[in-house]
Amino acid sequence: MSGANLDMARIRADFPILHQEVRGRPLVYLDSAATTQKPQAVIDALVRYYTHDNANVHRGVHALSERATHAYEGARERVRKFINAREAKEIIFVRGCTEAINLVAQTYGRSRVGPGDEVLITGMEHHSDIVPWQMLCQHAGATLKVVPVDERGELRLDLLDSLLTERTRLFAVTHVSNALGTVNPIRELVRRAHARGVPVLVDGAQAMQHFRVDVRELDCDFYTLSGHKMFGPTGIGVLYGKAEVLETLPPWQGGGDMILSVTLDKTVYNRLPYRLEAGTPDISGAIGLAAALDYLDSVGRDAIAAHDQELLEYGTQALESVPGLRIMGKAKERSGVLSFLMEDVHAHDVGTILDREGVAIRAGHHCAQPLLACFGVAATVRASLALYNTREDIDALVRGLHKVREVFA
Ligand code: PLP
Repeated sequence: MSGANLDMARIRADFPILHQEVRGRPLVYLDSAATTQKPQAVIDALVRYYTHDNANVHRGVHALSERATHAYEGARERVRKFINAREAKEIIFVRGCTEAINLVAQTYGRSRVGPGDEVLITGMEHHSDIVPWQMLCQHAGATLKVVPVDERGELRLDLLDSLLTERTRLFAVTHVSNALGTVNPIRELVRRAHARGVPVLVDGAQAMQHFRVDVRELDCDFYTLSGHKMFGPTGIGVLYGKAEVLETLPPWQGGGDMILSVTLDKTVYNRLPYRLEAGTPDISGAIGLAAALDYLDSVGRDAIAAHDQELLEYGTQALESVPGLRIMGKAKERSGVLSFLMEDVHAHDVGTILDREGVAIRAGHHCAQPLLACFGVAATVRASLALYNTREDIDALVRGLHKVREVFA
């Protein structure tokens, strides 16, 4: 059992991939911020779908198509319930956070942002929550503004009100920094942005796998998530949007499913959510994602959150015992990520030596180059945690880091 009352033996047994040797050592997977591993329940749901139910959705009159449609729309309802959205039509299936943010930039953004307007982001965004806004601002003749990050890795909230101006059309902010693990106070940020009439998009890529997220409580206008980072398949994600906001968006991609009727002169668009889901969707991905959400609930989201905090604290203390190691980001609220540097050793060399020990971490800029630049570094070592990680995994990481020290002594 973990201190958070998770039955770790049972949980680890649920993830078949963890039970293998890598380079002659038992695999220690500490790269879940890049992608999480999948429980057997998710793998089984995919196999079951392709073995029994595979068909296209929404237009077939036959039994298989009905089953596939039922499962796909059931997955939408499952996501709605999981994040406590008001209506299923507020759940738009996309490929992941990247696609969700691009969808908002190209629909909401292009219809609302004009010359002289501003889009506000923060200094700790993933490139997926920077580049689409840069492209939009370039296209619209607008300005991208940034809430800076302090040396602890927290947002400079003292500057927020002056950065929210009458020209700000949207504030886009990550819930959890993938590079530092900082958890942002989204409820407060939304309240302050709304007080200025500014809608808020929250990039939730790194949040929901660690703690409960309630979009109605947060009151954000958009929330994005990536299935593969929360134990579901790759290729599926979600854009949540408040119905009253989504209803005003122009269509994004054109094609099948997003229409009610087409003539060569004119197209009548479908209602939500289909209007924003052109073409055959990732049916199996949605079904796999629903299975992942069932899995998270079966383990217990509060217990998962407690486990994350306990492991993070254990990991922070363990890393502080390694000579010459500097932990990056010391925000009061953190989740899932231990980011650090080793004196005189490049992050990639640390990664290579750890890999030889069977320990999988990520070394590099973590698609957050502007954030790392704030700290005056080009790369860090990132160990990222998930519900299947244990104190033994952290101990293996620390043993590996001592090996790194020996090699570079
Ligand atoms: N936002 C954050 C904070 C992320 O960590 C990631 C992926 O690492 C993304 C966005 C992009 O997610 P995806 O590549 O699944 O679209």
